[in-house]
Amino acid sequence: MTEVKYKRVIMKLSGEALAGDKGSGINPPVIKTVAQELKDVHDMGVQIAIVCGGGNMWRGETGEQMGMERVQADYIGMLATVMNALALQDSLESLGVPTRVQTAIEMRQIAEPYIRRKAVRHLEKDRIVIFAAGTGSPYFSTDTTAALRGAEINADAILMAKNGVDGIYSADPNKDASATKYEELTHMDIIDKGLNVMDTTASSLSMENNIPLVVFNLNQPGNIKKVVEGQKIGTTVRG
Ligand code: UDP
Repeated sequence: MTEVKYKRVIMKLSGEALAGDKGSGINPPVIKTVAQELKDVHDMGVQIAIVCGGGNMWRGETGEQMGMERVQADYIGMLATVMNALALQDSLESLGVPTRVQTAIEMRQIAEPYIRRKAVRHLEKDRIVIFAAGTGSPYFSTDTTAALRGAEINADAILMAKNGVDGIYSADPNKDASATKYEELTHMDIIDKGLNVMDTTASSLSMENNIPLVVFNLNQPGNIKKVVEGQKIGTTVRG
């Protein structure tokens, strides 16, 4: 196995990352590119778990703003993450990578239910595990799911793959020319400075469990590999 810094990682893949330029829906060629990058890292012997977001199709908050009951809207969001997970599974398997999808809401005809010990076993057997349906509970996000599942499976790092943004900035670099990039931060810095990285539930969970978080640009080819090798890209957040 190639020397790597992180041997078991959990990567949060936002719905947006699977949508391509249009920003919504599922874009199979875009997913195939992500799948190929994951395969390259998997081939290095790294154990990979993925948490799929669903924002390319639906967010509970948006539903609520349009007058829906929040809990109902959140369940729709969780179902959106399952569609993304199945699309990613399809791409990975077409490249010959063995995978399992585990859902936090049971739907046994299409995926396994989430069972921690089974998930760990799959990782040990070199299968990429894709976690879908978030935590299974409304009012949470898939960022929080990544922090939670990351702790549960003893991940060495949480990889936050961003679309076009190469780390954490003092302000939105697309709107503020004076925004500067942080190389290293603590989880507390994120909460104190109110940085827009992940929601505070996810941040405090990562902090409590002392899991490093690497925020990096997914759109740069080879970046997932660089992160697991420990190359200095993006922003690293520690305890
Ligand atoms: N969601 C939820 N509980 C969870 C995870 C997700 O209710 O544990 C719902 C929530 O409505 C959220 C939607 O699923 O808006 C999609 O997830 P998220 O917004 O995290 O996806 P992303 O923006 O990362 O693509």
